[in-house]
Amino acid sequence: MQKNKTKKIQREMGQSDMDHDPKMAAEAVKKQALALGADSVGIGNIDRWENAPTQMDPKQIMPECKSVITMAFRVMRGSMRGVEEGTYFSNYSAMGYGGITYLYMPMTVINLCKYIEDRGYEAVPMGHQSDWRSVDGWYTKYGGRLKEKFSRPVEPGRAAPDVMIHLRIAGYLCGLGEIGYSYMFLTPEFGPRNRLGVIMTDVELEPDPIYDGPQLCNQCMACANECPAGAISKNEKIQVNLAGNAVEWARIDCKLCSKTFRGYEEVDYEVPEEERYIANKNSKPGWWSPFYKKPKTVYNTGQAVCGARGCTRACMVQLEKRGVLRNQFKDEFRRRKPWKVDWETEPQYPNDVKMPDEPIMSDETMKNEPVDDID
Ligand code: SF4
Ligand code: SF4
Repeated sequence: MQKNKTKKIQREMGQSDMDHDPKMAAEAVKKQALALGADSVGIGNIDRWENAPTQMDPKQIMPECKSVITMAFRVMRGSMRGVEEGTYFSNYSAMGYGGITYLYMPMTVINLCKYIEDRGYEAVPMGHQSDWRSVDGWYTKYGGRLKEKFSRPVEPGRAAPDVMIHLRIAGYLCGLGEIGYSYMFLTPEFGPRNRLGVIMTDVELEPDPIYDGPQLCNQCMACANECPAGAISKNEKIQVNLAGNAVEWARIDCKLCSKTFRGYEEVDYEVPEEERYIANKNSKPGWWSPFYKKPKTVYNTGQAVCGARGCTRACMVQLEKRGVLRNQFKDEFRRRKPWKVDWETEPQYPNDVKMPDEPIMSDETMKNEPVDDID
């Protein structure tokens, strides 16, 4: 009997081409990141986090960390089209938000970690794991506050789990772009249309300079002017020092934003139960939401009904107009007057829309139709 001569195919491991030359190693890692699907990639050495608050210090996670790699993933401009037109909202939440954050980006980050670990160095993959972080999101400064009765340090000197690596600050410290006045991260390619993924590793990689390209944010205030909630302060700023650089952004009312971006307004009177947007008795749909009730989430986060009307779309429109972004388009994004829902008036549907109480089949056929949700 003939023996099967097929050889087992295995990943190459243990190559030491990262050992001696941080410049070549950085180039190889960046090339690989782009090949794996990142849209841009930058590297910062760990010294840039020297003064990081303990709860945001990469060394609390990986004491031997030498380099931080940050990758930017573009949000398709087309994912905002349906929100801009007021007709298709879930795409931004799914494909522009959750799909990138929870699916596409982790795959790239994990695959790049494999590339590094195959070469004998450890790599911590990080995306958006903020649900377990011990600091809350209502920043008074970029340090955040501990959540009450959430976690405790395992021993003195260690941070309370989970440490949160601030993704936008990582993006800045790895040279990928600027933190805009709106507190959004802006890249020279896509402006605010991006999500960030991070890797911490013990391999020494040559760092990129802090971004010093064409100025992206010029404090035009379009983000603040167009935020439906006024969550972006026009005069109160947060000023921080990041690796010796003075950086500032607006004070953001994150609590207000977190309600508004889901599409509702909190009013100071009791809303009749059938008109409430969420269970909260003071919630009603805002003029920036066409939905009677908050839509279901998609990919765990998809509730971005506001579609980042102010902070993302307004900013993107401004940056594109100024011609400072590398990703350019044949036609401008804003082609029609931005819409507003007038909840005081009766809705007007297109003539061919079948209303819920209108039969679309004969009574006999309908009896046999399943009534389950088709999605
Ligand atoms: S809209 Fe203007 S002020 Fe706001 S982040 Fe963009 S460029 Fe800066
Ligand atoms: S997401 Fe919406 S509510 Fe929040 S700051 Fe941006 S524009 Fe304002």
